[in-house]
Amino acid sequence: MHLVVRPAPALWLFLPPRRRCASFVVSYDGSASLGHVVQAVGIPLTEVAAPDVDGARSDVSHRPHDGAVIELRPPPRPQPLPDGAGFLLDVHLGSLARRLRLLGVDTAYGNDAEDAHLVDQAGRERRVLLTQDRGLLMRRALWAGAYVRGHGADAQLADVLDRFAPPLAPWTRCSACNGELADVPKQQVADLLEPGTRRCYERFARCTSCGRVYWRGAHGRRLDAVVADALRTRPPWRS
Ligand SMILES: [Zn+2]
Repeated sequence: MHLVVRPAPALWLFLPPRRRCASFVVSYDGSASLGHVVQAVGIPLTEVAAPDVDGARSDVSHRPHDGAVIELRPPPRPQPLPDGAGFLLDVHLGSLARRLRLLGVDTAYGNDAEDAHLVDQAGRERRVLLTQDRGLLMRRALWAGAYVRGHGADAQLADVLDRFAPPLAPWTRCSACNGELADVPKQQVADLLEPGTRRCYERFARCTSCGRVYWRGAHGRRLDAVVADALRTRPPWRS
């Protein structure tokens, strides 16, 4: 028994080179679900929309018949975030975490987290786990997750914004700890500032969690540049 798999080009990065083509055949035991077949070829279920079987919309719990043609495509973009959900980033995505926080996106990040802890935290805190580790996305217990495309934080940020279109609120969140920022009068933080900063800036905010001080100006320009770049960059894999 066999199945014919037709993956959209946007999914080819998950496949071994010999299968990066419009169509390939896999052997089939007659009892596995579509979801099992999809993950067995290397594609996490978080990265596919409901598949078509012989041209009709199906779902991943379906058991296809011998010789069925399975069409796979990525989820449509933007993909709605589960209500109120933030993100949880794995250990390799620290630069992306800081950028998302600069834009005010609720982003948890732990630099010592093990896989099982990440999966547990994502479910407990209702966060979408962002990672470039396919094995992590294939864990059964995962509440919600997504593969981050791109090398480097700028490309990765463009991908996340394009995929989920999260609401942005620059200048509201601490890039170091994800805490919320609150405006603070200059005299309250004057002792913490370098003389040059004290001289040049008037508007300050402080993280309500870790106490880190932010000032408009240098940070503001950086934020503007991050936002402008992110919105201008259309990911090359966007079909
Ligand atoms: Zn903080």
